[in-house]
Amino acid sequence: MSRKRIDKGLVQIYTGNGKGKTTASLGLALRAMGHGYKVFMLQFMKGSKEYGELQAAEKYLPNLIIVQSGLETFVSKENPSQADIELARQGLETAKKVITEGHYDVVILDEINVALDFNLIDLDEVIEMVKNKPERLELILTGRYVPSKLAEYADLISEVSLVKHPYYKGVPARKGIEF
Ligand code: ATP
Ligand code: MG
Repeated sequence: MSRKRIDKGLVQIYTGNGKGKTTASLGLALRAMGHGYKVFMLQFMKGSKEYGELQAAEKYLPNLIIVQSGLETFVSKENPSQADIELARQGLETAKKVITEGHYDVVILDEINVALDFNLIDLDEVIEMVKNKPERLELILTGRYVPSKLAEYADLISEVSLVKHPYYKGVPARKGIEF
C-alpha cells in the first residue's frame, strides 16, 4: 500500500536578515518526518561537510536527504566564479528533477533566494518550477533577499529580522549552533 501523502502542499518562504531560516526549515523537516513524510533538502551555495544537519541526516535520518550544490568558499556577489554559477545551475536542475519525480513530500531549497539575488540562477526558471510543483508537495524556499516577483507565488512568507546577533560582539560561528 502506498504511504500517506500531504493533501495540499503549499509554498513557503523563510527570508530576512536574522538567524533562523535554514534551521526553521530543518525544524519543519523534523516535524514532517515524524508523520512519515520524506524530505529532500538542496543547499545552494554551500559545500562544507561541516554542517551538523548533513551529518545528522546521514547518521540518523533516512527520510531526510541533503544534497549540496556549491563550493566551500563564500560566493562573491559582484564576481562569482564560473564554478559557483555552474554548481548553482546544476542545483536547480536537480531541484526540478526531484520536484517533478514526486518521491518527496517536502522539498527545501536552502539559500535559493540568495542564489537568485546573486544572479547565479534565472528567476523566471525558478518561478516556472514553483508554479508547476505537484499538488501534494510542500515547497520551502529559504534565504535572505527573496525577489519580490518570486514572493508573489508563496502561500506563506516568514521574515526573520536581526534584532541581536552575537557575531556583532565578536562571537565567531559556533559548531552545532551556526553550522
Ligand atoms: P541558521 O542556518 O542558523 O538558521 P539562517 O539560515 O537564518 O541561519 P543565513 O542568512 O543563511 O542564516 O546565514 C548563514 C550563517 O550565518 C548561519 O550560520 C547563521 O547562523 C549565521 N547568521 C545568520 N544571521 C546572521 C547575522 N545577522 N550576522 C551574522 N551571522 C548570521
Ligand atoms: Mg540559511
